[in-house]
Amino acid sequence: MKVLVIGGGGREHALVWKLCQSPLVEKIWCAPGNGGFAGEADCVAADVANPVGLVALAERLGADLTVVGPELPLVNGVVDEFTKKKLAIVGPNKIAAQLEGSKIFTKEFLQRHSIPTAAMYGAFDSPGDAYAALCAVDWPVVLKADGLCAGKGVFLALEPDLATDFIERVMEKNELGEGGKRVMLEEALEGDELSFILLTDGERYATFVPTRDHKRALDNNLGLNTGGMGAYSSDELLPEELRKTIIETIVEPTLKGLTKDGIHYQGFLYVGLMLTKTGPKVLEFNCRLGDPETQAIVARMDFDLAEVLADAAAGNLKPEKLKWKRGASACVVLASGGYPGKFENGYEIQGLTEAEKLPDVKVLHAGTKREGSSVVTNGGRVLGVTAAAENLPAALQKAYAAIDKIHFDGMHYRTDIGRHAQQRKAAGD
Ligand code: AMP
Repeated sequence: MKVLVIGGGGREHALVWKLCQSPLVEKIWCAPGNGGFAGEADCVAADVANPVGLVALAERLGADLTVVGPELPLVNGVVDEFTKKKLAIVGPNKIAAQLEGSKIFTKEFLQRHSIPTAAMYGAFDSPGDAYAALCAVDWPVVLKADGLCAGKGVFLALEPDLATDFIERVMEKNELGEGGKRVMLEEALEGDELSFILLTDGERYATFVPTRDHKRALDNNLGLNTGGMGAYSSDELLPEELRKTIIETIVEPTLKGLTKDGIHYQGFLYVGLMLTKTGPKVLEFNCRLGDPETQAIVARMDFDLAEVLADAAAGNLKPEKLKWKRGASACVVLASGGYPGKFENGYEIQGLTEAEKLPDVKVLHAGTKREGSSVVTNGGRVLGVTAAAENLPAALQKAYAAIDKIHFDGMHYRTDIGRHAQQRKAAGD
């Protein structure tokens, strides 16, 4: 099997890492990939926003299977273009990808199918109406730009001035571009968050091990929001009873709702949950795998990912093939100095070989590039140091021991990944 992975971050490196382990895979490309894992996949230039260009690339390479990492190509309709040409691809089509591409579409979908979620106060096309609606909400309130906004479209406002400011920036000054043309107001939920990801072929589904990510830049959930500073997965993260509730009240109604609405959904479905006192509620859907959740998930896979993804793309998923290593895994992100604000690239990374010599550790490259015989930083999130073990403390110990071997100027990372697994109070992380 010749496989093309679309995307170029840590999530895609994790996919490449696992796909390469399959005896079925004879060739693997990553478009555009990144220099740090060019030894594991052939990195080829690509504009991931352009579905037609990606089809041409897959045809030129002769890929038997394409796996899509980021949301942008999916929301732009890459799967529809591949399907027209009868090329195998894992991911939802353009209409189905609206579950990530439009918060308002998703909220209406959830309401239509009575799936637990935060109550919506309203969805607005005009800033005037949005300002007016603030008179009738409970505080704090959550404001969401409707479209894709690179993780900047959600804001929890503690008071009216802050909500007004968000509406002005997003709807009047267009700071988030097209994605901010419509804004939704919803109830703020409290609880622990959980990432619950599944793979479906449109009929059958298989759930992945649950994960929890850490969005804030600094320890104790301080600092700015980031793309994700780390994630972990463990057997204890999701008690069986709660898992059953999530399946019965959220996963199955969602898949049935899609079918009822005439939407064929094939690919990964990321369900972002808030575990509230009154039960799990949907915060968001993503139409792809999370980053860095994927790194933690892949570390626990005990099955042939290439075989399973080919089955899913062919509409023939066999959920019983997905087997998981018991225990836990963790991914700790090493970021550039200044990230998520301004940062500089080009710092040499030392210690990669020593770190990877440690058992059960894999260093996944998110933003790196090769310069001669060196690997240098080339992004905000640079590396995801990932480890698996028999339990979470051991997985964390291995990941942090590997980090001790790695150095680049300005490197920063959280030292408390997974800590709130033991302190169940750290909600909203
Ligand atoms: P979303 O993209 O909708 O998941 O929002 C991003 C993040 O904002 C989530 O991971 C939560 O941390 C937070 N969030 C979103 N919706 C709510 C809500 N209704 N109540 C509290 N926090 C929320």
